[in-house]
Amino acid sequence: CGIFGVLGTKDAANFVALGLHALQHRGQEAGGIVAHHPDHGFNSARRFGYVRDTFTSQDVMETLPGSLAIGHVRYSTAGSKGQTAIRDVQPFFGEFAMGGAAIAHNGNITNADALRRELIERGSIFQSSSDSECIIHLMARSLQRNIPERMEDALRRVEGAFSVVAMTRTKLIGVRDALGVRPLVLGKLDTGYVLSSETCALDIIGAEFVREIEAGEMVVITDQGVDSRFPFRPQKSRFCIFEHVYFSRPDSILGGRSVYETRENIGRELAKEAPVDADLVCPVPDSGTPAAIGYSLESGIPYAMGIIRNQYMGRTFIEPTEQIRNMGVRLKLNVNRALIRDKRVILVDDSVVRGTTSRKIKEMILDAGAAEVHFRIASPPTAWPCFYGVDTPQREKLLAATMSEEEMREHLGVDSLKFISLDGLYRAVGEGNGRDASSPQYCDACFSGEYPVEPADMIEKGFEM
Ligand code: 5GP
Ligand code: SF4
Ligand code: MG
Repeated sequence: CGIFGVLGTKDAANFVALGLHALQHRGQEAGGIVAHHPDHGFNSARRFGYVRDTFTSQDVMETLPGSLAIGHVRYSTAGSKGQTAIRDVQPFFGEFAMGGAAIAHNGNITNADALRRELIERGSIFQSSSDSECIIHLMARSLQRNIPERMEDALRRVEGAFSVVAMTRTKLIGVRDALGVRPLVLGKLDTGYVLSSETCALDIIGAEFVREIEAGEMVVITDQGVDSRFPFRPQKSRFCIFEHVYFSRPDSILGGRSVYETRENIGRELAKEAPVDADLVCPVPDSGTPAAIGYSLESGIPYAMGIIRNQYMGRTFIEPTEQIRNMGVRLKLNVNRALIRDKRVILVDDSVVRGTTSRKIKEMILDAGAAEVHFRIASPPTAWPCFYGVDTPQREKLLAATMSEEEMREHLGVDSLKFISLDGLYRAVGEGNGRDASSPQYCDACFSGEYPVEPADMIEKGFEM
């Protein structure tokens, strides 16, 4: 998901809508905005679909006055299987003795089921199936005198990977979990402040990038400035390495590095680790593009757009049902036949999950008369589900969970298939010595099966690590 918040500028909701538009790649199912105005109080709007279609009409934006607003774009993950209900769309709002607060998060609370049971037993009435609502109810039970302290109390009970933006009548609040698994950055406008999942959404509103919120940090922002605190037990951070590979936009800066350059590096590493004689390097657009450029530069094999993407389709993986996902590949991608005929083609993609994309693309490429097809993948085999906010399917559906590399190659029907090694990936993201096995620098659970936070709810449901 994507989260965004603005304090200290007229019509903050308009800025939030623009920010969410720039974060649309992080969630396309639905969006929501809450704004506060001293005379009109808290107002919210929730809509299914793209921000550009739902938060651009005057009718909607007029209902969201004020100089303080937060928003969320939704991508449904664990807990919300099937159709999302509009009541599950964030931000959530709660009214407390000392005033209201709205909250939105990106990530996943791994003990949400247990917390929900406990809260319901103690009298809380839930209105949605979303994890964020747990935080609101925990805040309601806290004995602290003001809202930021109540939020600290609540978040200390919550396990998992989450970045939060929240607001009161006068404050904009941002939090990253103790491991800093999900991103969150701070930006500055002439007259105010911004919180955003990624820096690309600061650019769109002309905000200056100040810094990343640190792992375990909570910032409480008012007209007076930014107050920083660290409510959790300090731990070594474990940022999601997959943000570098796929999730973030290539024009964002993560950990002081351009995502684009990191992806190009991944392609270069891949070319060193898994060279092959061929005529063309083609990306599976758009997610494989920077890595394909890196592979081409390192190998000297020409880069070409062998697959053309229809710009009017979203990310296929993000469409929630298997049926739509299956159709999606053809609706979105087409082979550039004239270019491919009789060529030995290296196809570079960011990841293989179920293998649906790769299989379809291989068929399309062979139909177009390619002489050979070699897959090069910019991440290690995805053998484990993510429980921290990225929607990987159940373990059984992951190709790499049940097949060896050679079996996957056969299943996909390609001449060769190679994944970057985990160490190679770490080198590409700037860890010159590779992965520190005794204390890994990133979360890489979907590749390694080493979960930095025990997925308590999933274990209860029978998941075996
Ligand atoms: P598959 O077709 O193998 O199930 O999915 C792999 C494709 O989905 C890749 O092209 C990748 O770009 C895309 N993708 C979209 N969202 C995700 C995600 O959350 N995780 C992973 N691993 N791949 C994703
Ligand atoms: Fe990121 Fe994978 Fe960890 Fe999920 S399991 S947070 S996708 S590295
Ligand atoms: Mg892709």
